[in-house]
Amino acid sequence: MRITILGSGSADGWPNPFCVCHSCSTERAAGRARQPSSALVDDVVLIDCGPTTPHLPGGAAPLDRLEHLLITHGHPDHLHPAVLLTRQWVHPTPVLHVWGPARAIDLCRDWVAPDALVEFHVLVPGDAAELPTSLGTYRLSALAARHAHGDGDALAEEALLFTVSDPQGARLLYATDTGPFTVDEVGLPTDPVDVLLIDETFGDHTTHGTGHLDLATVPIVLAGLRAGGLVTQGTRVLATHLSHHNPPTPRLRSRLGDLGIEVAEDGMVVDTSASGDAHRHHLILGGARSGKSLYAEMLAARAAHVTYVATSGERPDDPEWLERVRRHRERRPQDWTTIETTDLGEVLADAAPGTTVLVDCLALWLTAVLDGVDAWSRLESGEHADIEAEARQRIEDLVARVVDCPADLVLVSNEVGMGVVPATASGRLFRDLLGALNALLARHVRDVTLMVAGRPMPVPTLRSSR
Ligand SMILES: [Zn+2]
Ligand SMILES: [Zn+2]
Ligand SMILES: [Zn+2]
Repeated sequence: MRITILGSGSADGWPNPFCVCHSCSTERAAGRARQPSSALVDDVVLIDCGPTTPHLPGGAAPLDRLEHLLITHGHPDHLHPAVLLTRQWVHPTPVLHVWGPARAIDLCRDWVAPDALVEFHVLVPGDAAELPTSLGTYRLSALAARHAHGDGDALAEEALLFTVSDPQGARLLYATDTGPFTVDEVGLPTDPVDVLLIDETFGDHTTHGTGHLDLATVPIVLAGLRAGGLVTQGTRVLATHLSHHNPPTPRLRSRLGDLGIEVAEDGMVVDTSASGDAHRHHLILGGARSGKSLYAEMLAARAAHVTYVATSGERPDDPEWLERVRRHRERRPQDWTTIETTDLGEVLADAAPGTTVLVDCLALWLTAVLDGVDAWSRLESGEHADIEAEARQRIEDLVARVVDCPADLVLVSNEVGMGVVPATASGRLFRDLLGALNALLARHVRDVTLMVAGRPMPVPTLRSSR
């Protein structure tokens, strides 16, 4: 199951556009923005659709494959029914199945032409349903959320939580919007879930008196879910529906990280086939400006603490380079540890289990290796074979360190050689060695992603290569 988080914010988003509190200002200055909460499962099942859900910056997730829309409740940050009309303009087929509580479904009806291929399904707590899709049959169960807080809000009273299982049996519990709940209260089956997305709207504001969770109540709910067997060691727990009542993201990450909870981000992808191992090694390839560094940072940002390894070396006389390095540094969370070194082997040998190390990037590391053996001037005197042999040895040593590294690794490298053959011998040598390094690493890491025009493309595994 591949869950794309299209929104991780509260109804007003975070930062709230009208607010200049410390939390909003910090998020704004760091360029972070969260839209109302929504999640896309394997591109075919969408849970909640607020006004901004279909318009994630960069159109990161086209909704062209959508077959089922699940609505938790009719609050406008979760349901923007006009989307049913705009889909109709482009995708009159196949049938879109819309599932949700009665009042939420009623809000949709006016937006659908009588002959439109949209089927509505009203859900009440305790309902289970099969969702046929082009990828196989998903299973849905609807449970009673605790979103009502006694003010007669009928939309909140009928709010639902969902579990969604994919055809392979991977399971998501989508638990927002809701206040504190227990396994027994909402009638949850107690088989473990692979992913839990949980309401954490109010941060340190714990006297809100609403049907939402905060930093004081999330740990209590989570303890109950753990005791009930629903959340296990293998479950990825992510906080969502986040508002500016929370401390800024880096601080929130470390506080929730202590509880084993990750902070959801807009655009984040949670892939259950990629979780559960002791450690994860991920190679991100891409050309210049393909978005590989940004994507790598987004992946690493799920961890409570990140060591960032810049292999850029020092270029004190190059103002353009210094400016670029400064911009990259400002973009990274302040609580990351930055190491500037080309001695990657040592960093990997020192990395502890459970930590995350991001290396950006291997092409610069290889440049440093070639600089170190004085490759460029030796090439002139025809020592090509010797230089290549020395560099290949260094590459093999590095890959061995990667294989042995017990930390989670995110490795960024350049994909080169797709254009013309370089004119110089040194250019061709560099291209060949980097290609060899990437290919060797790809055989040993669990995930490989190729970035193209800012979009991640998972690179499938050749079965014989593992
Ligand atoms: Zn909401
Ligand atoms: Zn604010
Ligand atoms: Zn709500």
